[in-house]
Amino acid sequence: MPDICNLNSTLPFNFDVQRQNRKSLVVYIKSGKVEVRAPRFASGKWINEFVSSQADWIMGELARQKRQFRQRLVIADGREFLFLGRPRTIVVLVGPQQEVRLTRDFLFIYTRRNTPEKLEKMFNDWLKDKAMEHMTVETLKVARRLGLRHKLKEVKYRKTRSKWGHCCQDGTIQYNYLAMMAPREVINYLIVHEVSHLKHMDHSKRFWDTVASICPNFKRYRDWLGDNGHRFWSRA
Ligand SMILES: [Zn+2]
Repeated sequence: MPDICNLNSTLPFNFDVQRQNRKSLVVYIKSGKVEVRAPRFASGKWINEFVSSQADWIMGELARQKRQFRQRLVIADGREFLFLGRPRTIVVLVGPQQEVRLTRDFLFIYTRRNTPEKLEKMFNDWLKDKAMEHMTVETLKVARRLGLRHKLKEVKYRKTRSKWGHCCQDGTIQYNYLAMMAPREVINYLIVHEVSHLKHMDHSKRFWDTVASICPNFKRYRDWLGDNGHRFWSRA
């Protein structure tokens, strides 16, 4: 069990201390919580001095995480989200129907029950369907173009916590279907990235050369995902 500490009351945040078999101190910040991993023998004074010395960085990181959380998706009537990089407004209509329909500017969710859980489920099911339609076809196209079609075994979809895609040794590619919110070029980069792993299972220069051979501006798209990806996760 961690002990919750703020040994120096001048610090504007609390932190947990986890005692471990380790030699040095390290700070982790996740979901707005500060955790210090410390050697079993570390004194309170040492821990406190260390945390104080990191205070500016910790405050900055806490603020950044808070900002990112605010930017996250809320699936509710009147809220906006991106689909293929274009903002759409969610319209929730309660009635006997159960359906999700996309237009140029809106996403209509027809539902019997307007609860956050129900909307979340309908939205995710719909987005996953869209990903299966769009990304599977595009993955086959890219695999053919790179002469790797024979290595591609299967394309799967899952909402994973941090990754956008994953390529297994056996030739299975898995995508995070939340990627459907990104612009087409960014999705295309993600597909080229995972398909290129069918040739090179690492992130070596040869791997990036393969990516660049059909996606020369990959750096721009990779950065876009890094800067905007957090918005695609809902707050739920
Ligand atoms: Zn990779």
